[in-house]
Amino acid sequence: MISKKSLAVVSIAALTVAGTASAVVAGGSGGRDNSRQIIKQIDPKKPKNVILIIGDGTGDSELTVGRYYLNGAEGPPMAYETLPFSGELHTWNLKYGPGPDYAPNYVPDSAPTATAWSTGKKTTDARLSQGPSEAETVPGSNEGFKTTFEIMKERGKAIGNVTTSELTDATPAAPTSHISRRACQGPADARTLCPEETKAGGGLGSITEQLVDGGYDVNLGGGSARFEQVLDDGSGNVIDYAQDEGFRYVTNAAELASVNSIKNKPLLGLFAPVNMTTQFAPLIAAPTPGAGAADFRCNESNRPASEPSLGAMTDKAIQLLSKDRDGFFLQVESASIDKRDHASDLCGQIGETKQLDDAVKEALAFQRHNKDTLVIVTADHSHTSQIVGDTSDTPGFYATVQTADGEPLRVSYGTGKTPPGQGHTGARVPVAAIGPQASNVLGIRDQTDLFYTLIGRRSGW
Ligand SMILES: [Mg+2]
Ligand SMILES: [Zn+2]
Repeated sequence: MISKKSLAVVSIAALTVAGTASAVVAGGSGGRDNSRQIIKQIDPKKPKNVILIIGDGTGDSELTVGRYYLNGAEGPPMAYETLPFSGELHTWNLKYGPGPDYAPNYVPDSAPTATAWSTGKKTTDARLSQGPSEAETVPGSNEGFKTTFEIMKERGKAIGNVTTSELTDATPAAPTSHISRRACQGPADARTLCPEETKAGGGLGSITEQLVDGGYDVNLGGGSARFEQVLDDGSGNVIDYAQDEGFRYVTNAAELASVNSIKNKPLLGLFAPVNMTTQFAPLIAAPTPGAGAADFRCNESNRPASEPSLGAMTDKAIQLLSKDRDGFFLQVESASIDKRDHASDLCGQIGETKQLDDAVKEALAFQRHNKDTLVIVTADHSHTSQIVGDTSDTPGFYATVQTADGEPLRVSYGTGKTPPGQGHTGARVPVAAIGPQASNVLGIRDQTDLFYTLIGRRSGW
C-alpha cells in the first residue's frame, strides 16, 4: 500500500514534471529525494481566498474506484491527486445523551461532519452548527458554534456555496444555519419537525430562511421545492423572501452564465426541484454474480441542458467571488457520490466523482495564477463501496465495470440488506491541500481541526 506520505511525494513529482504526466504512476518519483520541492510548497502566510471542495461520502475507496475507472491505474493522476499535501481526518461524532459528556458515535451522518469543519466542534447526528442534547427532538445550544461563513463574512470576504444536492441539504447547510434537525429544510418542514426553531416560534427559522438571512453572495445548487414552501406568516414563499431581500434568482444554466456581478446583489441559483441530475446513468449492484460486466462502460445520463455541471457552477462562483478585493471563501460539494453509493449505483457514484474532480480542476486553474488561494479537497465521511477480487462464490451485492486500463473493476456494496439502502462507514477520510497554510493538513487529525485551517491560522514558523 502506498502511504499518504509517498502519495504526497508522487504529487510533488507530478507538479514538477508537468507535461509528462503519463510517466507519473505509482512510485513515479524516480527515486529522487523531494525534500526541497516539499519545503518550497510550504507557505505560512494566511490565505486570502479559500476554496473547500467536499466529496460527500467520498472515502479512499470511492476515490480509488473513480480513479481506476476514469483514468486507470496506469493513467495520469486525478486533479485532486496533484495536491502537494495530504493527510487523514477522523470523522466520529457524538451520541445523544444527558451530557455534559457525550459518547462517541463512530459512523456519522453528513450534518455533524460538516458542522465539525464549519465550527471546529462536534455534535450529534442530524444536527447543524448547534450543540448536542439528550435527543434529536430537543434543540441544543448555538453558543460557540459560529461558522466559517459567519467568520469570513465578518472579515469582509465574499462567500459562496455550491452543491449538486439541495442547497438545504446537510453539507451546504452547516455553514449557513444553526438548527437541531437537518430535515428542517423549508419553513413547512420546520413547522412540523422543529417548531421551537421556526421564526413564528421565536427561532432563527428553517434552513432556507437562515440562508437568505445570511446574505451570502453566491448560492448554487438544487432544492427549489424547499424554497417554494410558504413562510410562517403566509406572506409568500422563500424565493419571494429572497428577492425581497435583494437576491437575484436564476433557474437555469443560461441565466447563470449571464450573471456578471454580485455587487450589492447576492445570487440564488436553484436548478432542480430536489437534487441535481447525475452525470452518469445508473448501474445498480445486484446479487452474486452482480450487475455489469468486464466490458461494461458507464453511459452519460440525459442531464437537461438547463442544469449546469458542478464544474460550470464552480467556475462561475470563482469568477464572481474573485471580483471582491478582500478575498473570498467558497465551499463546493459533489453531493451525490454519497447518494449514489447509498443506492448501490456504481456508475452514478463514478460520474459524481468525475464532477468532484472537475470542480478541483476549476479551483486549481484559479489557484495557479492566484497563489494566495488555499484549495482543500476532502470528504465528510466514508462509505460502502469496496474494490474486491473474485467473489463469484460469495453472496453479496456487486457491480463490475471496465476501467480506463481495459480491465474489469469489481465493486462490493456490503452495508445494506437489500439495495438500495447502503449505509455510511466509520473509517477516517483523506484531505489534500495546496496554497498558503496547506501543510496544516499533513498527518492524521480530527475533522474539527480542519476548521482552523479554513479560517486561517496565526502566522509564523
Ligand atoms: Mg452532502
Ligand atoms: Zn449519506
